[in-house]
Amino acid sequence: MKFCSACGAQTEYRIPEDDNRPRHICTQCNTIHYQNPNIVAGTIPVHEDKVLLCRRAIEPRHGYWTLPAGFMENQETTTEAAMRETWEEAEARVNIDGLYAVLNVPQIDQVHMFFRATIIDGMFGVGVESLETRLFSEQEIPWSELAFPTIKKTLQLFFEERRLGAFSVHVMDIVRSPR
Ligand SMILES: [Zn+2]
Repeated sequence: MKFCSACGAQTEYRIPEDDNRPRHICTQCNTIHYQNPNIVAGTIPVHEDKVLLCRRAIEPRHGYWTLPAGFMENQETTTEAAMRETWEEAEARVNIDGLYAVLNVPQIDQVHMFFRATIIDGMFGVGVESLETRLFSEQEIPWSELAFPTIKKTLQLFFEERRLGAFSVHVMDIVRSPR
């Protein structure tokens, strides 16, 4: 952030008094512009024994497969965001069955939340952010063509626990391996 969103003056990046980490601070009106992680909400949409995936029509990871998910909007709840994204990307209406995974991705300042969900009447389409959408059985999942590590981790756990017949809630950290 170079300019203050309150008054338009330049900002500087320094540790405010009584704080312990640097912030963008306005040199004119002294507003401290706090920046915090963004929440990405999505679903694992299920129909019979299959999971609905979307092939991305947008960057990053254009052409790769993902679960429907996206940034939460202000004034939304997490389930509302997950359901909205599922409609926008896969034109599927879903019933939320429960929270499944919370994935911290600290290096990009995001928290991803996935809910287990059932596709109402098994109906879905192709949203504008998708090239195609498709139901996959466990054996059909394109593991090498998944868009993000969060998607792979969530799907691996989901199928593993479905085989065992019991779902729990997972809180995980996706940490980039050191170079
Ligand atoms: Zn200002």
